[in-house]
Amino acid sequence: MLNIRIEPIAQKKPKPDQNKLGFGNYFTDHMFMMNYTEGKGWYDPRIVPYGDIALPPAAMVFHYAQEMFEGLKAYYTADGTVQLFRPQKNIERMNNTNERMCIPQLDPDDVLQAIKAIVDYDKDWIPTADGTSLYIRPFIIATDEHLGVHIAKNYIFAIILSPVGSYYPTGINPVKIYIETEFVRAVKGGTGYAKVGGNYAASLKGQEKAEKLGYAQVLWLDGIHRKYIDEVGAMNVFFVIDGEVVTPALDEGNILPGVTRDSCLALLRSWGIKVTERKVSIDELVQAYDAGKLDEAFGTGTAAVISPIGELNDDGKIMTLSGGKIGPISQRLYDTLTGIQWGKKEDTFGWTVKVN
Ligand SMILES: *Cc1c(COP(=O)(O)O)cnc(C)c1O
Repeated sequence: MLNIRIEPIAQKKPKPDQNKLGFGNYFTDHMFMMNYTEGKGWYDPRIVPYGDIALPPAAMVFHYAQEMFEGLKAYYTADGTVQLFRPQKNIERMNNTNERMCIPQLDPDDVLQAIKAIVDYDKDWIPTADGTSLYIRPFIIATDEHLGVHIAKNYIFAIILSPVGSYYPTGINPVKIYIETEFVRAVKGGTGYAKVGGNYAASLKGQEKAEKLGYAQVLWLDGIHRKYIDEVGAMNVFFVIDGEVVTPALDEGNILPGVTRDSCLALLRSWGIKVTERKVSIDELVQAYDAGKLDEAFGTGTAAVISPIGELNDDGKIMTLSGGKIGPISQRLYDTLTGIQWGKKEDTFGWTVKVN
């Protein structure tokens, strides 16, 4: 149990227009913070005004990227309560990332308490318009003032909050995806399964290339064979091949274990739809497409929930899926997940957690 001290902001900021939120553009009045020092553990949990963090230029995070982050959302339901979606999964993943990055572990109960406390304290910032939510971004940075490469002894854990708009203000639009064969995002033995900024920094070059070619995102192939599918952009990826749902397996450690991915698997299984976690090669996709059996493809992640793929470009071969529209399985997953998240559909899995 954390004993959280509170330092309120002197003057609250004006709230942004709920119809023009976009993603990650606005931040609430307060943030949660806590420090760590070797030998002392985590200390001074506090809610303070959202504002700059002063660090020495030699702070280790600036140089060697020892840091991690998480992403989840809080939703206003029709009956006025605020709920989180499977936050325990994010917290569990957070400690898995910490373990990989040599960052000290956090007490899962403390993290859930901190998330609930900061969301509740700034709840006047949670937007209520259709499809909007409060994005929660916990992160940890190494703060030692030191240029030697070693494991830091001092860290800051913070949680910031951002009211975000509907991902699909004009209806669900399938995206065009470029299959990247030159750059890779992660390799076996690397940090692909951990949610760390370095993975994103390494992905920018491929993303830039795809955008220049008119594509929204990159389909990443495995770093060794350049053959098996890893992820799409910063989302997990699913394919419907001849009625069977397939998604790349997590066992090689180069894929981020998404909470949305896990939820889709559980829903599909509960509906009696055949779903398999295994290797999926690009050749298999092309063959299925040519045989008319590549029924649907979609990305999954907290931000968009389900992002249907309307076109895949494999080295100039253009594959158009579901007639450029959202497919039936993608649509059913989207409706069910968003229904549970905003409290409009019964939560038979016990996935939601009330904040207040
Ligand atoms: C966060 C993330 C995902 C999606 O995870 P969710 O828990 O579903 O939001 C997928 N891939 C990468 C690389 C990510 O960083």
